Amino acid sequence: MLDYDLSEDQIAIRDAVRELCDKEFAPHSMRWDAEAQVPLEAVQRLAEQGFLGMGIPEEWGGLGYDARTICVVIEEIARVSAALGIMIAVHNSVGALPVFRFGTDEQRKRYLPRLVSKELGAFSLSEPGAGSDAGALEATAVRDGDAYVLNGSKNWVTNGMRAGVILVFARTDRAAGNKGLSCFIVERGAKGLVLGKPEDKMGLRGSDTVALTLEDLRVPADQRLGAEGEGFKIAMSMLDGGRIGVAAQALGVMRAAFHEAVKYAQQRQAFGGPLSKLQAVQFKLAEMERRVQATRLLLQRWPGKAKAILRGTGLRAAELPPDLKALSSINAFSLRTAHFDEDMDDLLDALLGNKQGRGSRWRQAPLTLAGVAWRLAAGLAAGAAVMVGAGLANRWADNGCYDLACTLQASLGIADPADALGLLWIVGIAVLGAGAAAPFVLRWWRGRR
Ligand SMILES: Cc1cc2nc3c(=O)[nH]c(=O)nc-3n(C[C@H](O)[C@H](O)[C@H](O)COP(=O)(O)OP(=O)(O)OC[C@H]3O[C@@H](n4cnc5c(N)ncnc54)[C@H](O)[C@@H]3O)c2cc1C
Repeated sequence: MLDYDLSEDQIAIRDAVRELCDKEFAPHSMRWDAEAQVPLEAVQRLAEQGFLGMGIPEEWGGLGYDARTICVVIEEIARVSAALGIMIAVHNSVGALPVFRFGTDEQRKRYLPRLVSKELGAFSLSEPGAGSDAGALEATAVRDGDAYVLNGSKNWVTNGMRAGVILVFARTDRAAGNKGLSCFIVERGAKGLVLGKPEDKMGLRGSDTVALTLEDLRVPADQRLGAEGEGFKIAMSMLDGGRIGVAAQALGVMRAAFHEAVKYAQQRQAFGGPLSKLQAVQFKLAEMERRVQATRLLLQRWPGKAKAILRGTGLRAAELPPDLKALSSINAFSLRTAHFDEDMDDLLDALLGNKQGRGSRWRQAPLTLAGVAWRLAAGLAAGAAVMVGAGLANRWADNGCYDLACTLQASLGIADPADALGLLWIVGIAVLGAGAAAPFVLRWWRGRR
């Protein structure tokens, strides 16, 4: 049985983060959006609570949280500031965690103390010509003695302006396709790392998103993360983990938006009373509440189901540490697109109404535009559908066992059809094995008699 309730510890953590966010961040988040900058003091406040190292084990200075607890924290931060939410989520999932997951002990010792205590991390995969199709990236890394020389243009790097450490992906082998990419740990201020101007985004404005130019950037070979050619695998596995954090951010914003919707419907007078007394508005609010709850249930379900998810993505569970296993989910994609986008459309429809003209001074505008930016930040809906579809196809292709697995799942109370399918395989192999062995056993038995 899956337990959807938070533990006492998780509730205590949630309440503490909620209080911190309400007191210290909520009063400023509108201004941060308008000024297009979340101050580093806010990051430092979260660092003091250990939230820069949520997925890093305690022996490496982190909190060693499981995925569900990380989601609880991220949701609460995003609820008051979507921009701070994405900064912290990106830092944790694709900035710091890859260093722990793929770094040597030497690299962990050098970078993790900084990343868990004070410095933001960033992740630079995308390029002007390589977004959803990340494997098409063209930046190069050429080995030169004890270093690599990097050249090329990178785009849309969250935290890029202020990160102490940036993971940069570049091509070490032109002919090897996805297997020709490698990952490098690049330090802020390195000669040849040129920061562009932050993008003037519609939403998530307080979080900086910059272009980088790599101009003969020399990176010592001992700053290569993982093996040469392993970059694509690193990027994809970390992004899979990061996506569930994106869903948690989306849920935080959905909750904030819903709260504003109810408040406005209660305050705004029309036809002799508050909007909230009109049944058509009540239907809308009820539908939004249903989606918030459905999203929460899906989100709470996935971290505990990481093994089945990993089967769906084709990753080998044994390769990944428990925290990453728990974080991995292509399904957060479907959650995000199925629920979040629709809610944002509802918000536009139901709430912006006659307030649209008030622009960014109105709280719904940053919330809604954060939603629009999100559709892009974590990969677009079509890419999401392609990945979910491919995952499902891999999972069920060529076996035609889906219905049987579902029946077995229902009758035995198994949590997921994938587990039921696994059981079917074991039973099937056992039956086949018994069938193959039967003639020999019979012959042996007759011989004995
Ligand atoms: C706020 C923000 C923050 C970001 N932060 C980072 C970061 O920290 N690091 C980083 O490396 N990148 C980052 N990105 C980049 C982000 O990952 C890309 O925007 C994303 O991968 C989509 O790429 P693209 O914008 O080039 O769109 P494209 O890939 O060019 O897609 C264009 C259109 O084609 C569609 N499409 C693409 N593939 C398919 C397909 N297979 N089938 C059907 N339709 C398809 C898309 O849905 C879309 O409508 C960020 C982006 C934003 C907006």
